[in-house]
Parts: sequence; C-alpha cells; structure tokens
Amino acid sequence: MEGPERIFVFGDGQLLVRAGGLEPAGAEALAALQKTRATLDDFAVRPQGVRAVGVAGAADDPPAGCEWVRLRTLLGADAPHAAAACRALGLLNWRAAHRFCGACGGALADHAVETARTCGACGCTEYPSLAPAVIVRVEKEGKILLARHVQRIPDLWTCLAGYVELGESLEDCVRREVKEETGIEVGDVRYVASQHWPYPNQMMVGFAAQWQAGELTLQPEELSEARWFDPAALPKIPPRGSMAWRLICGG
Ligand SMILES: [Zn+2]
Repeated sequence: MEGPERIFVFGDGQLLVRAGGLEPAGAEALAALQKTRATLDDFAVRPQGVRAVGVAGAADDPPAGCEWVRLRTLLGADAPHAAAACRALGLLNWRAAHRFCGACGGALADHAVETARTCGACGCTEYPSLAPAVIVRVEKEGKILLARHVQRIPDLWTCLAGYVELGESLEDCVRREVKEETGIEVGDVRYVASQHWPYPNQMMVGFAAQWQAGELTLQPEELSEARWFDPAALPKIPPRGSMAWRLICGG
C-alpha cells in the first residue's frame, strides 16, 4: 500500500509546500485554502500518480505551517519531485488554455486513457504541447556574452534566448537569435542541456557557441546592454535552478 496521496497545490504559478522544506503541502492545507479560494482545476497527473490542484488568487497568505515557492527553488535544490511538479504545473497551464476545441469550438473533455482532451462535437483530440526555446552561452577568447533585456528584470545579466521558429533547427535558431539580437555570428553550436520550464510551456534547450565574426550591435527592442564578461568576475545573473545559471556557471 502506498503512503498518503501526494498533492501539488499551485497558486499563480507557485507551489504550496510545508514551511522550511520543499515537501508539497497535504490535504489539510488544501482544505484550509479552499475555505477562502476557488478551485480552478483538480486532476490526476499520470503516470506520476500525483494530484494537481490549481487555486485562484495570488501566491500569498498561505495556510498555517505552509509557504509558496517558485519551481526554480525546487529545481535549484535538485528536489526529487521537481520534475513531477514541473509536469503538474505545465498540465495545469495547458488545461486552462485548452477548454475548447481549436477546430470547431466544441467543449473538450479529458481523454479516458491518455493525457489528452477530446472534443465531444468533432472527436478531435488535443495533446499537451511544448514551446521550444533556445538559450545560449556565447564565448569569445574565454569570455562570456551576457545581456540585460528590455522586457525582463532590468538589472539581471543573462544569456541570449529565443523561441524556435517553424522550419528551423535548434542550431539555426541559436545562430539567428544571436545575429538578430547582437549582430554577431557564431559557430561551433553545441548542445549542453535542457530543462522544462512550465511558464507556461517552454522547453529550454541550452547551447554553447563560439563567436565567429562581427561587433556587438544591439537590437534595441530586445536588449538594453550586452558585454563580454570574464567568468571570474560575473555581474548579477539569474539564480541557481534556471537554465541560464547552469549555462553560465557550468552547474
Ligand atoms: Zn471539435
């Protein structure tokens, strides 16, 4: 017999855990939350055998003995349930955005067996989808290219990144994004690692690439600043648990 059911409770993209640890909060904490908040969704995550619940409202005012944490915290701590939590939140996001059929507008209902939803009107089945994005560590003579982005946290320096377009390979995407955003050309594009990032459904694919030609000429809509940094003297970068941290610090 298995232990008590594991429940992942999400509020505004954050997970409810027992205070002082990263263990998901249990049924009692969920019941306490549901006294004051609406339940947005409640479903079984297969094949992990956990239950995911989305509640309305901001990630604040947690039940006694609990706190909300970002999934980056779980990933950064290598928590054993980090991947299951990412899957649960990814599915929660997907289900919220796929309540109606994209072909005919009919209502979608959970598939009996698969992780999918089927239209009651036309029979079309929709599966969860991922949006692949590349993120790249560009190197030149031992230095790393980092940039500040216009639309993200402005004092944070991070790697260049962008969504993969239809018709291009991941490597093509790396070369295009770097060229568009900074004007430089890169070669020796090499895969490093990947990470699911359920905000809302990204698959971050990390690469390293070498500077090949060109001077930094920034795309002003995207970047406010870009510079080459010595790995021993880095500016403020994204925290552990992010794909950027892994690429920059080699963790
Ligand atoms: Zn339909």
